[in-house]
Amino acid sequence: LQAWQDQVPTLPYDRAMAAQAAERMALARRLREALDKREFELHFQPIHRLSDDRVVAVEALLRWRQHDGGYVPPDVFVPLAEASGLILPIGQWVLEEAARSHGRLAGRGLDHVAIAVNVSAVQLLTEGLSEAIVGLQRKYGLPAGALHVELTESVVLRRPQAARVGMLQLRAAGVRISIDDFGTGFSSMAYLRDLPLDCLKIDRSFVRQVHADERNASICRALIALARGLGLGTIAEGVESAEELEWLRRNGCEQAQGYHLGRPVPLERLLDSIGGPG
Ligand code: C2E
Ligand code: MG
Ligand code: MG
Ligand code: MG
Repeated sequence: LQAWQDQVPTLPYDRAMAAQAAERMALARRLREALDKREFELHFQPIHRLSDDRVVAVEALLRWRQHDGGYVPPDVFVPLAEASGLILPIGQWVLEEAARSHGRLAGRGLDHVAIAVNVSAVQLLTEGLSEAIVGLQRKYGLPAGALHVELTESVVLRRPQAARVGMLQLRAAGVRISIDDFGTGFSSMAYLRDLPLDCLKIDRSFVRQVHADERNASICRALIALARGLGLGTIAEGVESAEELEWLRRNGCEQAQGYHLGRPVPLERLLDSIGGPG
């Protein structure tokens, strides 16, 4: 049998897959040291209220800086961190950095601007998330509502009961909860009805060309109506043009973020652009 196997030629496809797996393992190894080496940064993307164009919140987006000055995108390393459990210490770092950053916003007269943090399933389902947040609120003197949390549908669907308990604790700590990338997973009306949510984020795949693409327009109209009926806020992600933004405003979407309004940037640059005095 062995001899036979040796004769089977390795397809280039297999080799590509093996190379990819090896690369992922190398990345996972370096990820373990990234916290100690202070290789993480948060960038912040403004979220605008469409009724008056004011920045009402910013989303904190995790960046992993490499020696060459480039970044590994979170879509690549967050799943690795989740699989290895590293997402717990990394997520804790993100929360602390977000809380600290809110203190800096407040110092510039921007304490009304909330910081939205992406939280993984593992974090929500691990004991102590809300206690950690309460601790940070005290440590940095944050006003209630300074931190928001974004969860994806997968979290909620995998363990709805446990997720619900975690979400109620967050709510009790004054944290608003958004459901992220809504409509891309197995969107369930039952969880929208039953879970303690504040806001629905419309995935950017539905926002693309919404002023010109009738199918996306139908989906966005329906999502905005659904959110309004359930008493939830709406945030459109990935707004890349003035036309998309105007369509969303006319159709009753409350808030928006996207490259057209501002790219994710380090806190310093955010302060320069939305800044206040000092
Ligand atoms: P997300 O939470 O849906 O974040 C929005 C993503 O869309 C960000 O990608 C942002 O840079 C990108 N984006 C914003 N505006 C536009 C636009 O106009 N056009 C396009 N094409 N893209 C836009 P990013 O920063 O690469 O993050 C990807 C995902 O990684 C996030 O998706 C989130 O799920 C996850 N992530 C980021 N930071 C964290 C974190 O601290 N913890 C956890 N658990 N996940 C995180
Ligand atoms: Mg998000
Ligand atoms: Mg999103
Ligand atoms: Mg997304």
